[in-house]
Amino acid sequence: MLHEKLSSIYDNVLRRNPGEIEFHQAVREVLESIGPVLGKHPEYAESKIIERICEPERQIIFRVPWLDDRGEVQINRGFRVEFNSALGPYKGGLRFHPSVYLGIVKFLGFEQIFKNGLTGLPIGGGKGGSDFDPKGRSDREVMRFCQSFMTELFRHIGEYTDVPAGDIGVGGREVGYLFGQYKRITNRYESGVITGKGLAYGGAQVRKEATGYGCAFFVEEMLKARGTSFDGRRVVVSGSGNVAVYSIEKVAQLGGVVVACSDSSGYVLDEKGIDLELLKQVKEVERARLDVYAARRGEGATFVPDRNVWEVPCEVAMPSATQNEITGKDAATMVSNGLVAVGEGANMPTTPEGIKVFLDAGVAFGPGKAANAGGVATSALEMQQNASRDSWTFEFSEHRLQEIMSDIHDRCLQTADEYGMPGNYVAGANIDGFRRVADAMLSLGLI
Ligand code: NDP
Repeated sequence: MLHEKLSSIYDNVLRRNPGEIEFHQAVREVLESIGPVLGKHPEYAESKIIERICEPERQIIFRVPWLDDRGEVQINRGFRVEFNSALGPYKGGLRFHPSVYLGIVKFLGFEQIFKNGLTGLPIGGGKGGSDFDPKGRSDREVMRFCQSFMTELFRHIGEYTDVPAGDIGVGGREVGYLFGQYKRITNRYESGVITGKGLAYGGAQVRKEATGYGCAFFVEEMLKARGTSFDGRRVVVSGSGNVAVYSIEKVAQLGGVVVACSDSSGYVLDEKGIDLELLKQVKEVERARLDVYAARRGEGATFVPDRNVWEVPCEVAMPSATQNEITGKDAATMVSNGLVAVGEGANMPTTPEGIKVFLDAGVAFGPGKAANAGGVATSALEMQQNASRDSWTFEFSEHRLQEIMSDIHDRCLQTADEYGMPGNYVAGANIDGFRRVADAMLSLGLI
């Protein structure tokens, strides 16, 4: 239920942004949490902070023409939504996936504002991407696409303006090509303009691992708060990309057993626990599908095509693929299978109906804004190292990540307590992230 004032703001968002259903969903989730804040802080409503937050500061849409390996012209659409810079330069990744349109970029950018606020680091919110599909494309095609994409994007970004990074379909290879073209066009070695760079040219230790590791640390904190741990627990992770692989790695180090992971072709069930080295070889090196993993792993591992990984019973679920992958029905199945905790590695992977099922059942539910904030937090640490021309060790960087995740966890719980919703990490994350951004906006005047 929405507070009356918030309900009219939401109606206005629907009217002004027709058809952008993922953006509507992300706005509604935040508005549902912040009703009680308005009672305590009438100044937010008086200065129309919420209406301002829902309107991006700037939205850029551009043509990306490129030549494929057959010499044929291809045309994609590029996006960058610079949502909010009250706390720092716009910060958020680039997604390359055929499903990308303005509504997806705006949902991700909107979420990013609060997530970045929650980290306590000086970063604003933004997001971008393209409907380009890197799957099945050669390295040369991906390079030509990235160069064309950056040939327009470069004029909008900069280490003090807007700092992109990776997301679905954008990993180390793409970030390298994007940074290379930025450097070439601007004639500046401006390392802090993009994060997720390779270690050979200004990248930071632990950035590649940060979202997955951070999510595992967050879940560990939630379990600890309930007097338990990962030890011996059966875990399912969806996806098998960057976030999934490093969630699996850290969960195993913390004592959990990851028995299944997935991609868009189906899932693999491996009761002995996923063999991480084999998974990295298949997914990161060969860019192959999960059936290849199952075939090489041999006995005990089964590839189940075109099925939903959430049918596999588990105590801890870490959705790390894409938005709205856990429906209300999936959530009900998971609860009846003995689910204890959920850590959202992906952005908005659980539908509103699914979240309600988890909260009603008393499952420890860590929303993406909090649980996957380790990625962007470590990106901010990469910017810090670039600015001081320094580089930290793996151990120190991982320790900083762990401290940040523990701090985010504690603040979510404290804020939820303060507003009379004990244990509700969704409310805690939304309210804490919102307050930080709103207070900065109030101080900066009507901008
Ligand atoms: P990757 O591209 O590395 O991996 C994505 C994985 O999810 C792949 O296994 C992919 O399978 C699967 N997937 C993607 N879209 C779909 C779909 N529509 N249906 C089924 N499976 C799908 O991306 P990341 O690991 O970087 O990102 C995963 C999630 O984590 C996203 O929600 C992203 O926004 C979020 N995130 C990422 C951060 C980061 O640092 N990278 C930071 C914070 C959040 P397939 O290969 O078959 O398409």
